Amino acid sequence: MAEMRLQKFLARAGVASRRHAEELIAAGRVTVNGARVTEMGVKVDPAADMVAVDGAPVALPEENATFLLHKPAGYVTTMSDPQGRPTVAALMADELLAHPGLFPVGRLDTDTTGLLLFTDDGQLGHGLLHPRRHVEKTYLALVEGVPDAGDVRRLREGVLLDDGLTLPAGVRVLEGADGRRAAQLIGEGAGASGYRQRHGGKRGRDALGARGSYVEVRLREGRNRQVRRMLDAVGHPVIALHREAFGPLVLGDLPRGASRPLAEEEVARLK
Ligand code: URA
Repeated sequence: MAEMRLQKFLARAGVASRRHAEELIAAGRVTVNGARVTEMGVKVDPAADMVAVDGAPVALPEENATFLLHKPAGYVTTMSDPQGRPTVAALMADELLAHPGLFPVGRLDTDTTGLLLFTDDGQLGHGLLHPRRHVEKTYLALVEGVPDAGDVRRLREGVLLDDGLTLPAGVRVLEGADGRRAAQLIGEGAGASGYRQRHGGKRGRDALGARGSYVEVRLREGRNRQVRRMLDAVGHPVIALHREAFGPLVLGDLPRGASRPLAEEEVARLK
């Protein structure tokens, strides 16, 4: 790896933002090969030089990094938004300091919650999105009404959208314990409150009377707003949408807004 300025090295290592790194240097808290450095602009060779902050050695992450984020509703899946809306990049600010090349793998609608991957490994990220990979994604949707057997069959076999027929999908209406689990996962965070504001309802399914239902949809393609458009097409508009799984990865009990790095074996299973 090429030489880089000390403040950049500290930022890449996840110690501090570049500005804060400059303050650490100016405060005399940083050493290079045991010698205190207080002037800016000193270059270090990450492979050869020994950098320490307050005596603790600091190293650059060596490998590509991949994270799983529990995206809350209300965040746009983009690294920057000219309109100044909250973005998923803001939720990943600390991780981006250490891994500035991170980007989201695909996108979730602003109202959609759930599992969003970030990686700085272009080959992995673009590979996962390639149409021929057919990586399965699992969604839980709160919809208006209850899809009947005919609706479920259409959703499974293929629905004609304005960009063509959808591929076969796994679809089931969730009942009993499965429905209650979906209700918990979707909770208040997956756009239901926005729906209520738009439709003047008071609380969750109360806004729908007893007519709302939970549906699991497993897709092997990823067109824009696909789940919402499929359910619209069969007459059951989505009120709230949550992605529970992406390929072999499930969100588990990661809190909303939190992220975690993937373990090496989890990354291996994505390849
Ligand atoms: N399908 C949708 O309609 N929205 C999403 O955010 C993801 C899949």
